[in-house]
Amino acid sequence: MDGENNKCALDTVQVALRIRPLMQQEIERGCDECIEVVPGEPQVQIKDLAFTYNYVFPQHITQQEFYDTSVRGLIGKLFQGYNVTILAYGQTGSGKTYTMGTNYSGSDGDSSKLGVIPQAVADIFDFVEAHEDKFIFKVAVSFMELYQEQCYDLLSGKERGHSIIEIREDINKGVHLPGITELPVTSTMETMMVLERGSIGRVTGSTAMNQASSRSHAVFTIVITKESRTDKNIATTSKFHLVDLAGSERIKKTKASGERLKEGVKINQGLLALGNVISALGDGTNRSYISYRDSKLTRLLQDSLGGNSLTLMVACVSPADYNLDETVSTLRYADRAR
Ligand code: ADP
Ligand code: MG
Repeated sequence: MDGENNKCALDTVQVALRIRPLMQQEIERGCDECIEVVPGEPQVQIKDLAFTYNYVFPQHITQQEFYDTSVRGLIGKLFQGYNVTILAYGQTGSGKTYTMGTNYSGSDGDSSKLGVIPQAVADIFDFVEAHEDKFIFKVAVSFMELYQEQCYDLLSGKERGHSIIEIREDINKGVHLPGITELPVTSTMETMMVLERGSIGRVTGSTAMNQASSRSHAVFTIVITKESRTDKNIATTSKFHLVDLAGSERIKKTKASGERLKEGVKINQGLLALGNVISALGDGTNRSYISYRDSKLTRLLQDSLGGNSLTLMVACVSPADYNLDETVSTLRYADRAR
């Protein structure tokens, strides 16, 4: 355990496992739970397997507790100039969107249900307000979707076919997306309205598994610049990526065919490349040997994974016995990341 704690302190990649509660219809159908949390340890047991992560959040953990424990501390890091990336991974229906709060809607009356994005945005503007006497802050957001290895600008206001964005890299600018809509924002409410507007345009497709199954990666990015009021040379820029990944389920289970099958293959390409990058980072592989080029997702995130950046991978799982295979596969993926 000591060794593991030491590892956590140095880790630029942290892994949190979140187990959602059984849903009402699962309880009614008589589903059993197939995963057990080891009391007092960030460890779970499933069948005869055991997995340990940086954090394990059991079914009863609230949005607030999840945020306070695993995300809140990263906001301060952003303002110190670190890039921060939070990724939600898991099969469709495992709680990725719930956890990230990607599908924010202003009509969501219950503030105790707010996911990571709205809570983080509120903390960011609290920080800005508290330090505005000493610094000039600029906050801007963009929102994009990666679908079939194409990158779409969800805030362009144009129809989909005209909102395709290319990913470029150069020595001065690093990774950048020429032409992407980057909206300056000055309050939590304004930011949430932008998120809401963008999420309405997301692609969803129905599969045999879940009607609203999300087949694309949604990337909400907040860029923060901070400049000292007394010395312009004291300035930092940081990127905060909040990523709601596509469903990780294997294709056969969704009985996919044709267009769906093609989607499945491309989506897995992104998740596969991401898994390889994150696992290499965890092994301490020199960054210059890590292959970020294998997918649009890893290219987009390349200056925000490893190096001067902090990553939290949130592995979301269902506890229901009929999801056992997918849950084990998510636990394995997350285990490689550690
Ligand atoms: P995904 O985005 O991975 O497909 P969702 O976030 O849409 O999954 O979650 C599926 C369902 O489970 C939704 O109805 C959601 O509200 C519910 N849910 C997910 N996680 C939790 C949780 N921790 N507590 C309560 N309900 C949850
Ligand atoms: Mg979702």
